[in-house]
Amino acid sequence: MKTDKIFASIITIGDELLIGQTIDTNSAWMGQQLNNIGIWVKRRVAVGDLKKDILEALDAEGKQSDLIFITGGLGPTADDITKPLLCEYFGGKMIINEEALENVKTIFEKHLKRPLLPSNLKQAEVPDVCTVILNKRGTAPGMWFTQKDSGKIYISLPGVPNEMKGMMTDYILPKLPSLFTLPAVVHRTLMTFGIGESFLAERIKDFETALPNHIKLAYLPNYGMVKLRLTATGLNKSELTLEIDSLFNTLKDLVKDYLVTNEDKPLQEVVGQILEANNKTMCTAESCTGGFVAHLITSSPGASAYFMGSVVSYDNTVKQKVLNVSEQTLSTFGAVSEETVIQMANGAKSLLNTDFSLSISGIMGPDGGSEEKPVGTVWIAVAGLTETIAQKFNLRHNRTTNIEVTANLALNMLRMAILKDISLA
Ligand code: AMP
Ligand code: MG
Repeated sequence: MKTDKIFASIITIGDELLIGQTIDTNSAWMGQQLNNIGIWVKRRVAVGDLKKDILEALDAEGKQSDLIFITGGLGPTADDITKPLLCEYFGGKMIINEEALENVKTIFEKHLKRPLLPSNLKQAEVPDVCTVILNKRGTAPGMWFTQKDSGKIYISLPGVPNEMKGMMTDYILPKLPSLFTLPAVVHRTLMTFGIGESFLAERIKDFETALPNHIKLAYLPNYGMVKLRLTATGLNKSELTLEIDSLFNTLKDLVKDYLVTNEDKPLQEVVGQILEANNKTMCTAESCTGGFVAHLITSSPGASAYFMGSVVSYDNTVKQKVLNVSEQTLSTFGAVSEETVIQMANGAKSLLNTDFSLSISGIMGPDGGSEEKPVGTVWIAVAGLTETIAQKFNLRHNRTTNIEVTANLALNMLRMAILKDISLA
């Protein structure tokens, strides 16, 4: 058993990753999972479907790490060459694996209901020098190789994210701690809203400087919000937990006027939990965000307890006909105005019969701006239990980012309005 720091490398294979056609989400996910169990991800490398490049990566990462994860290149098509290449690299020969064969047959006969092609049968072939990792979600088996002299472990998994994740979760992540003595890792995360990263850093400077070496602080900024994560690494999990909890309480106190949540969860979930705990409901009336806020809210399981629906009132006729925004308001102040968002919020609240409603109207770009209302002008309103408030924002990003930032700003405005109303009630 090894007691030193255990290092991992992740090699992702596929031409599509190099040209940005497929975003490499596999290594991000794997990195998180490995970090959670105390394995240090040292390097992430992406290579194309080229034998020479893959072999070079296997050699190079074998020198760096104890564990080398490989994803991709296991498909039945000619461009996928990882399996024969690994067979050659570890000096084996291809054999049919009975369990993998059964799996391929079951998938085709029972689930896909079509005959097997010879290329599909080949999916059940594996090098005789590996341990097969069953793939319950697809036809390509995973392969676990232990290098004879060095003891280094190479694990090859399919590129398809949900197949890779299933095999990691079912088999690999539970198995790794039995092979190494891994350090305990404890994380605590909080979210702030409305204070920039550098101001936050200034405020908690003394706290950060005084942190012991085995506790690290990370700033994770994301459009208006900044998450702060403390990570403690050591041998004794319960001691670490006590230590990090005490530091986390101090940190929470230092940022309490900007604190949104002391858990690692998205803003929409925070809003949802406050609504649900207080038995209140909400809806949205969205123009420039086109239902994006509603999408975020309904991404949280259980949203039906508090979310009634949304009106995507993109065109002015919808603002008028569905939300009761007056023609005079629109012609006098325009669609992107305080008066319009207030009427949108009130209209949606009474139409959908909710306790709260959120409305948004803005100019997301790249066109549509004017001197008076440049691209990035956004009005947001929240209709609550007693009043409807509105606020103007001036954003400066591209269209996609403006929509994301607007959603965060709107959710935070809603959160604050709900908290205020509830504390008054
Ligand atoms: P492959 O195992 O190379 O046949 O990959 C199968 C599919 O998985 C590819 O078409 C990609 O869409 C996807 N994929 C491969 N590698 C990755 C990765 N690193 N991150 C996310 N998706 C991937
Ligand atoms: Mg591929």
